[in-house]
Amino acid sequence: MYKKSNRKKGLWPVLIVCAILLLFAAGCSSDTKSTDFLSGPETNNSGFERTTEGQPSGEVLSGQLKVHFLDVGQADSILVQLPNNQNMLIDAGDNDDGDTIVDYLTGAGVEKIDYLVGTHPHADHIGGMDTVIKNFTIGRVYMPRVTTTTKTFEDVLAAIEYKGLNINTAKAGLKIIDDGNLQALILAPLGTEYEEMNNYSAVIKVTWGEVSFLFTGDAEEQSEREMLASGVSLQANVLKVGHHGSHSSTSAAFLQSVEPQYAVICVGAGNDYGHPHRETMARLQGVNVFRTDLDGTVVFVTDGREINVTTGKNKPGAPGQTGEPGAAAEPIKSGAVAPNNERVYVDDGGRGLIKGNINSKGEKIYHMPDSPYYDSVKPERWFKTEKEALAAGFRPVKG
Ligand SMILES: [Zn+2]
Repeated sequence: MYKKSNRKKGLWPVLIVCAILLLFAAGCSSDTKSTDFLSGPETNNSGFERTTEGQPSGEVLSGQLKVHFLDVGQADSILVQLPNNQNMLIDAGDNDDGDTIVDYLTGAGVEKIDYLVGTHPHADHIGGMDTVIKNFTIGRVYMPRVTTTTKTFEDVLAAIEYKGLNINTAKAGLKIIDDGNLQALILAPLGTEYEEMNNYSAVIKVTWGEVSFLFTGDAEEQSEREMLASGVSLQANVLKVGHHGSHSSTSAAFLQSVEPQYAVICVGAGNDYGHPHRETMARLQGVNVFRTDLDGTVVFVTDGREINVTTGKNKPGAPGQTGEPGAAAEPIKSGAVAPNNERVYVDDGGRGLIKGNINSKGEKIYHMPDSPYYDSVKPERWFKTEKEALAAGFRPVKG
C-alpha cells in the first residue's frame, strides 16, 4: 500500500485524511476498550476491575485456545489445544479410560501430544497414560519427582521408556511455553517432600492473551498455601478445581486469589468420596461451576479475550437447549450478565439453598439437604421459595 502511494503522489491528501480518521478511530476504540473492559472477561460481577496480565486489549491475536475437560468419571484428563497448533494433555484418566481418551483426542484432530503432563502418580490421573503414549507421537513429558510402586505407575514408565522419552521434572518456576501472549507455566510443586502424594501435583497456568486457565491436579491446601506465599499470580478466568472438589483443596484464600469466573470439577457420579464436598461447593458460590458428572465433557474456547463454553450433556432445563441428544449447551459469553446473576433460589428456612433441575428421566426435582447435590451451584433453575418450585411442577427428592 505504501509503495503504491509513493508512485501515485496524487493520493497523498487522501492518505492524510485517512490517517486523521484512523487517529480519530483509535481514540474512539480506546473509549470502547474501557467499556468492553467493564463488561468483559476481566470483570467480576460486582463490576470491579480485575488484574489483567495479558497484552493491551485491542491487539488482535491469531488463533484460539481450546480446553477440553474430558468426562472420564472420577478421574482427570484435560486436552489443551494451543493457538500455535500444539497440544497439551494434562492427565489421562484411570486405567480403563485410555481408549476413550485416545478416541476423543483423535476425534479432536490430535496427532501429536507436544506436552504430556502427569500431574502426580495416582491411578485416576495417569491410569490411561500408557495407552495414550503408545497411540500418539509424544513431545515432552512432565511429571513431578515422586514415585510409587503401583503397576499403573510402572506401566507408564515402561511406555515412556519404550518410546525412548525422557521425563522432565515438573516443579514450580518451570516455563513449558514462554512465547509472548502464550504462556504455560508450572506453579507447583514448590517443595520436594510431602506426606500427601496429592501435594506433589503439577499445577499449571496457561495464558492466552487476557485469558488464563489454572489446572491444579489434586493439589491440596498445603500446596495452595505455598503457591500463595510464592507471590506468583494465581489469577485465572477458569479454575480446574483441585482434587475433584474435595474439601481438602480450594481453600478460601486460594480461591480469593484465583478469582475465577468459571470452575470445572472433574468428578464421577456417585463416587465413593462424596466429591464434590459441600464445603467446596459453598466456597464456589458465585462462580459458574461445571461438573463432568452432570455436564459431561466441558469445552472452553477463547480467542484470548472472550470465553465460550459448551457442555457435552444435554441439559433440558438449561436455556438454549435444543433437546437433541448430545447437543451442546448454548455458549455462555463471559461478557454477558453471568448466568448466576439470573439464578433464583429456594430458601429452605435458613439451612441453605435448594437447586431445582431436571433429572435424567426428565422429571423436575429439587435436592434436599441430605442429597450430595444439595449445595450444587449451577446456572440452571432456581426458585425463591419452595412454593414457587412446587408451582413450577418440581417435587422434592431426598437423593
Ligand atoms: Zn485425583
